[in-house]
Order: sequence, then structure tokens, then C-alpha cells
Amino acid sequence: MNRLESEILFTPIPERIARLRDLAYNLWWSWHPEAQDLYCQVDPDLWELVYHNPVSFLREVRQRKLDDAASDAAYLKRFDSVMADLDAYMARKDTWFANHYPDTTGELIAYFSAEFGIHESLPIYSGGLGILSGDHLKEASDMALPFVAVGFIYPQGYFRQRLDHSGWQFAEYQKLDFANVPAVPARTPDGKEVVIEVDLPGRTIYAKVYRFQVGRIELLLMDTDIHPNSPQDRELSARLYGGDQEMRVSQEIVLGIGGVRALRKLGYTPTVWHMNEGHSAFLVLELVREMVAQGKPFADAVREVQARCVFTTHTPVPAGNDAFPLPLMEKFFWSYWRQLGLSRDEFMNLALQEQSWGATFAMTALALRMSNHHNGVSKLHGHVARGMWQWLYPGKSVDEVPIIHVTNGVHSASWLAPEMRELYNVVLGEDWEDYLDDPELWTKLAETPAEVLWKVRRNVKHRLIAFARERTRQRFEKLGQPPVVWPVLEEDIFTIGFARRFATYKRATLLFKDMGRLKAMLHSSNRPLQIIFAGKAHPKDDPGKHFIQHVYQMSQQSDLAIRILFLEEYDIAMGRMLTQGVDLWLNTPRRPYEASGTSGQKASLNGVPNLSILDGWWPEAFNGKNGWKIGEEHEYNNADEQDWNDAVSLYTTLENEILPLYYNRDAFGVPVEWINVCKEAIMTIAPMFSMRRMLTDYLSELYMPAAAEADAL
Ligand SMILES: *Cc1c(COP(=O)(O)O)cnc(C)c1O
Repeated sequence: MNRLESEILFTPIPERIARLRDLAYNLWWSWHPEAQDLYCQVDPDLWELVYHNPVSFLREVRQRKLDDAASDAAYLKRFDSVMADLDAYMARKDTWFANHYPDTTGELIAYFSAEFGIHESLPIYSGGLGILSGDHLKEASDMALPFVAVGFIYPQGYFRQRLDHSGWQFAEYQKLDFANVPAVPARTPDGKEVVIEVDLPGRTIYAKVYRFQVGRIELLLMDTDIHPNSPQDRELSARLYGGDQEMRVSQEIVLGIGGVRALRKLGYTPTVWHMNEGHSAFLVLELVREMVAQGKPFADAVREVQARCVFTTHTPVPAGNDAFPLPLMEKFFWSYWRQLGLSRDEFMNLALQEQSWGATFAMTALALRMSNHHNGVSKLHGHVARGMWQWLYPGKSVDEVPIIHVTNGVHSASWLAPEMRELYNVVLGEDWEDYLDDPELWTKLAETPAEVLWKVRRNVKHRLIAFARERTRQRFEKLGQPPVVWPVLEEDIFTIGFARRFATYKRATLLFKDMGRLKAMLHSSNRPLQIIFAGKAHPKDDPGKHFIQHVYQMSQQSDLAIRILFLEEYDIAMGRMLTQGVDLWLNTPRRPYEASGTSGQKASLNGVPNLSILDGWWPEAFNGKNGWKIGEEHEYNNADEQDWNDAVSLYTTLENEILPLYYNRDAFGVPVEWINVCKEAIMTIAPMFSMRRMLTDYLSELYMPAAAEADAL
């Protein structure tokens, strides 16, 4: 644990390729497949065994394999090319940011998030929120924003999903070996390791700060598993979203308050502070406390903090908005509110929210009150959020509530299939990534012959099916029983993908509403259909686990097993594979609970159209030609009615529109009309729902206005 980089025992690397080690410590490799190939090609089996982790790879690899690579001319050529790309990337001066904001000097955006989904080998994310944070960092690096990020390293990460024979989910936690993580201890300008402290009831607790290099961006992650914390406190950051409310408030104190202290110790002076969801909202208190300690009146300090702070709310689901009982807050903050110069009531009033179960201190309310710049994550969610938080703005109508929206997007390089990238390089030009948010660029795809795109799509699907079979084989080998059918899936059958967290509002089992109708489609002699499911339920969400079990048990029935597959352990690697490789991406949330959703954006980027409820981002994207809708833009009061109507719409659209289109082939076996939908999906969605477009909006609507407001004070 906590070993220094210099103490880690690496296999000695031949001098000629010694920079494989530098590369391993810049997560730039995580969105550059050709960089990952430099490890994979040295020893493909080991690369799979260490789950695509370059640091573990370099510790485990046999010296002879490295020697072979170092004397292989073809390998060295690729090696030199990747290193040249990395060097050029890091040194580049005419960056997006430099070109678009040439007059900006001295700005720094500090970005706080409880989870970061960067790569499958770093399991410190649970779902969409983490994936978004990871993509945000990667794009901030690509655009060269002045940016630093703060979060937690969870030594036991988020759980690994296992299903027992009955399909009941149980959690496996694996201790992360820090020696296998591409991190180094963060150091102050004078070379000292950074350990921050915060006060919890009756004790001080310490967190060590680690530095991750994500391209040009620094990501600082804190770890409480250090001496001299008590055993209990050492576990504080052990797991993402584990523990009770006391644990959670403690974690959030370390994240928000400790995070500010970590930045200060490292000499950062951010001009803008971005709270990505309410988990980090205590940071506003720390910023006020700092100013009050320097003699600023409380009200002035609050004004400045409000000017500088940006807050993004991510969910209308109540459980996603942390709110703590007041006695708990008293226990943790009784000495802190004095440092702010506040009484107990004044302090509680900063974030008071009445819930059905009593008065609470609500993190979303705190974040909204203490920042002047806030947003929801899609147009529809902006509207929903304005309604939800209208009570904080007495006298304002819903439309006047100051919560704007910036619709989420995805980091193209991270989610694009290599085969599709090759196609885009040819069709859009080698430098297409410099203009990837320009819709004009993508119109070039209209000219691509249908058979060309069809061939590429089939290649990607082939790779997915091989992956799904291998995962299935491994699962049944571990279970010690043969699979119900073997091999699973068929290459020529229309394939639907459904993968996401199994929160109940996402209604994974909607497709099973009318089994007769579904079975007719699955077993159709001329237009059959198969479905791949994946997804984790929160470890405490038993209703979600029942959904998984339901899907799993369907997949084990002898007449369904050939058409329905559940894949265990949904993670970034599987997310990539599924969104790239299926034919259609299905999304069935209970409107309007899906704040945005991003997996469907990943799919469309790869030419996989969506069939989705008009929830989250989809109403903005759907144009009648680039995918399909389920139901209408309609609000229901009755959940059963909603389920039935949506299910009927889902079946009808599949039967009457989607399946005929897919199976309608020209003389050469190409589904030309289907491919037109794929093209339209790419052309309309790839630019608009890119992380580039999203960060462009964050800059113009949130970050820069915050910086300007702070300057004006
Ligand atoms: C993209 C992604 C998500 C988010 O998917 P939604 O459909 O937006 O819920 C969650 N988990 C993983 C692993 C992903 O890749």
C-alpha cells in the first residue's frame, strides 16, 4: 500500500523503449488505442490478464518479451510514432482554448466529482455520473482548458458484479494495489508529500493526495487509508457509495473541505469552482471560511463564493440528492459554523429542506444557494430541475428559476470503435477530431456508399459477439455448469443492446411486459431478434437486483436462452463493446427521470441508432430519421398505464418499422434504408452530443461568466 513510485518493482525495460513507463503514467493512453497496443503487442495474454492496466503490465511482463519488442523494427516504428504523438500533444501551443479564448490569463477551473470513470482498470466510478466526469477531464485535456480535478481514490473501488445460479447479484470488492495504479503522491512545490486534515467529531482525520496525469490535466485523488487514522477512518474512502449516512457525510467533508485544502497545499488558486453534483458542495463552506478567517464579512464572502461557483445537478431522483438529518449535521459541524461566524440556525438555513421524514440539510439546496451558475444536464432536465427547486426562489415562476441546461455529451475518442475511426479518417479527413463538433463536417458521410458502412458495422458486431461469447464461457466455467445454449448469439440476427445501471426507473424489464408478443419477435423465422443485457444494481437496491434476476432468469429459460443474454460485470470496457457493436440501442426510462443519459450518444457516434423513450437527451436529438421514439412527450400520473402504453409503442415500432427496415436487403444483401438511419444518427448526433460541444457550452455559459463575475467583484 501507498508505495512510492520509486519503490515499485518494475521489470527492467530496455533503454530504447523505456518510455513505456512514462506513457503508463499519463492516462492519455486511455483514449488512444494505438498507445494501448504498445503494451498489448508485447504480450497479448498478459494484457488481458492485467485487464488493460499498463502499470501492472510493466510489473508483470517477462523481460524477454520486452527485449523482443525492443529489437523488432515494426514495433519500434509504432512506438516512436505514439511517443511523437504524445509529445506533440503535450507541447501543442495552438490549442482549442488558446485559439478561442486568446485573451484569458490566469483562469483556473477546479472540478470536483465523487467519481471519475476514466478506464476499466481504475474502478472508481459507478455509472453515468462518473463516466461523464471522466469524459469531461479527457476533453478538457484535448481542448487544453486551464483545469484541475479533485476526487477520491476508493481503495476497494466500486464493487465487481457477480450473479449466483439464480441470477441474484452479489458484490465482490477487490483491494486496489496502489502500486498498480498510475498515480504518484502529489508533492508541494518544495517536494513534500501532501496530506490534508479535516475535523470530524472528536478527531482529526488525514487524507493523502495522489496525482494522476490525464493528458494535460492533473487529477488529484484523496485517500484516507493512511496512518495515523483509526482503522474505521482508514475505511472512510474505501468504497464508492458504501456505508451509512454518517460515513457519507464524512466522505463529503473530506471531498469538499479536504479537496479545497489539497488544492491550497499544492499552490493552486482556482478562479472558478465546479461542483459536479452535490457530493462536493461542502467546498463552498470552506471557501467562505477561508475568507472569514482573513477578516472578510460573512455576507461579502458569500457573494464572492457565489460568483465563482458553478453547480451541476444530475438527477431528479430523490435518492440521488443527498440530504442529511439536522442532528447529524450538528454532530459534524458544531465547531465549523462558529468559524463561519454563524449561529446553528443561520448555518442550517443555508440548506434547509423539509422532507417527508423531517427537516434536512440538503446538499443540492446548499450548492444552489451558494453558487450563481447552475445547470441541469438536458433541456428537459433543466425544466424538471427548475420545477424541483422553485421553492428555493420565492416569487419566481418555474421558467424564471435560474437553472439553465447544458446537455451532456460523450468524449468521442474514448467511445469510438477503431473500425469506425478508420472509416472517419478516410471520409472526414485525418484531422476530423479538430472539428468534431461541427455538424458541417459530418455531412460528408452522406456520400459514403451503404455497403461500405454496412461492412464496417458488421466487423464491429463480429468483435462484440466474440467478446460476449468469451465472457459467457468464463462465467459458466466459474459456475461449474454448462451454458443453456452454446454458442450464444448469432451474427446475422438483429441485435438489441440494453446496458445501464439497474435503477428501477430505467425499467429494464419493460420488454417483457407482453411475453407472447416478444417471443413472436424473438423466434420469427424471417426477422428474428436477439437482446444483450448488462448492468449493475446499487448494492443496497434490492428492487434493482430483482430486475436483474428477472432478466437473468429469462435468459436461462430453454426457449429464450438462444435469444436473450445477460452479461455480468458491466463496466467501461463492456460499455464500449456494447455501444459499438449492437444494431440498436434501447432505452426505456420512466419519463422524466432520466436526466440525460449518455450511452445512447456513444451508440449513435458509432452508427447504432436509438430506440428510446423521449426522455433525457433524446427529445433534443430525435428528428424522425435518426432513430425511433417510444411513446410521446407525455406525463403520466399512473405508472401502470405508462408502462403498458410504452410497452405497446415499443413492440409496435419494432414490429412495423425497425425489423422490416433491418431485414430489407438489396441484391447484395445490404440493408440500404437501415444504413441511411445509421448515417443520419451519426451525422446529427456525433457533433451535437460530443463532449467538445458540451465543454464549449460550459465555457460560454458557466465557466467564463463565473470568471467574469468574480473579476468584477
Ligand atoms: C455510458 C455508461 C454509463 C451511462 O449510461 P446511461 O445510459 O447514460 O445510464 C454507465 N456505465 C457505463 C459503464 C457506461 O459506459
